Amino acid sequence: MDMTESPNSQGIGNSVAATSSSSSPASPTPSRYEAQKRRDWNTFGQYLRNHRPPLSLARCSGAHVLEFLRYLDQFGKTKVHTHMCPFYGHPTPPAPCPCPLRQAWGSLDALIGRLRAAYEENGGKPEVNPFGARAIRLYLREVREMQAKARGISYEKKRRKKPLLTAPGTSAAQEHDEHDPHPSTTSAN
Ligand SMILES: [Zn+2]
Repeated sequence: MDMTESPNSQGIGNSVAATSSSSSPASPTPSRYEAQKRRDWNTFGQYLRNHRPPLSLARCSGAHVLEFLRYLDQFGKTKVHTHMCPFYGHPTPPAPCPCPLRQAWGSLDALIGRLRAAYEENGGKPEVNPFGARAIRLYLREVREMQAKARGISYEKKRRKKPLLTAPGTSAAQEHDEHDPHPSTTSAN
């Protein structure tokens, strides 16, 4: 038998692969990001105007931004279990619990990024950008860690075993999370 097959017969060339797929990454669409950024900036401006005592953007510090982030938690939709909750660390709890809803870490992180950019686009100097404050980076890291643990998500898969530094005496801050039980007694007159 003669198995002579021309080696080129199946030449599905790589040369003609990508013709009509996306070519340029710089799309001129007025992006969702821009719209969101403007909305965030307005929200922050509103927050400043309603602030007691009044607060101007020029006087706004990283501490004020942190205050803003904590204020936003009341509108959060991410359940973050407290240490006392039996579902602490469960990604999919089998029953409801009274733990508070918070802003997800990812939302806060993205928000800060947008506000940081908006601040400079609105004439703020990068050196004094309150959204770039170190305290905020630390806060976000803390939130990420806390939420990852509370929900049982391991975000540190990439890293090797990291020794958990549990200082003997850090429990005081956690009592903060205690809940005021509101027994919903059905008032039947
Ligand atoms: Zn819970």
